[in-house]
Amino acid sequence: MIKTIVAGAAGRMGQRIINAIHQNSETSLGGAFERPDHPSVNADAGHVAGVGELGVKIAGSLGDVIDQGDVLIDFTTPEATLKNIRSASSRALAMVIGTTGITGEMLDEVRSLAGAIQCVHAANMSVGVNVMFRIAEELARTLGEDYDIEVLESHHRMKKDAPSGTAMRLAQILAGAVGRDLEKVGVYERKGIIGERTHQEIGIQSLRAGDITGDHTVMFGGMGERLELIHRSHNRDNFARGAVRAALWVVQQPKGLYDMQDVLGLR
Ligand code: NAD
Repeated sequence: MIKTIVAGAAGRMGQRIINAIHQNSETSLGGAFERPDHPSVNADAGHVAGVGELGVKIAGSLGDVIDQGDVLIDFTTPEATLKNIRSASSRALAMVIGTTGITGEMLDEVRSLAGAIQCVHAANMSVGVNVMFRIAEELARTLGEDYDIEVLESHHRMKKDAPSGTAMRLAQILAGAVGRDLEKVGVYERKGIIGERTHQEIGIQSLRAGDITGDHTVMFGGMGERLELIHRSHNRDNFARGAVRAALWVVQQPKGLYDMQDVLGLR
């Protein structure tokens, strides 16, 4: 039985991760923590996550629970993740990092510390999306130059950035598969008399509406037919379940930095 520690236990993802751990027979919740000033500190992690009492109190720092698990799952903020990986690496604690928006020097430090422990870092932990990355690449290569490539993403009205990181990753993979430079061929807006679509361009379009957790479509448009690859996430559970799968996988690997393609054996 693998014991998992959850960072940001009262957050949207933290709660779903505690749920996913609770439903998985190979792991149990070893510890949970939040930022020290969070109102959930000292509450039962199971109560906060809505699965009933688990007998694990939410601590106010990683230091309070670091000895209570084999692996840490962290979906918090870039600053918190950096602090956590500094502690985890000093204790050789395995880690799964889902936090997004880690950039620049922070990313360099996270990646260098992650390489010294067993660590999975992926901006999208969904199993379906990661399989989609792989299939999209194969389809682009197989269909070749006769098919126009378009990427469409839809997200909830609260999302602040566009296009989504997942859409950008898809577009980069697709461009790579057909030997194009996304910087040169990416088209993000169309309005007015813009002329015919160029053969080389890859369209990346964003919709924002309601509470959509995240939909991604890759369209390959040919003459007389089109092929569409669609992933729809219904809620956050697909990310939480992917993170738990990554945690169970990484504790059995040699030290190193991995992503979800490694976890799923897609590399
Ligand atoms: P959230 O704001 O609901 O939760 C983050 C939690 O982290 C909060 O409860 C916050 O109090 C806690 N936190 C902040 N600082 C902390 C610290 N120093 N120590 C411990 N806890 C701390 O956000 P969310 O929607 O759960 O998303 C969290 C992160 O996960 C974001 O970066 C988001 O983009 C990312 N995310 C990644 C994936 C993926 O598949 N990789 C999927 C969904 C969300």
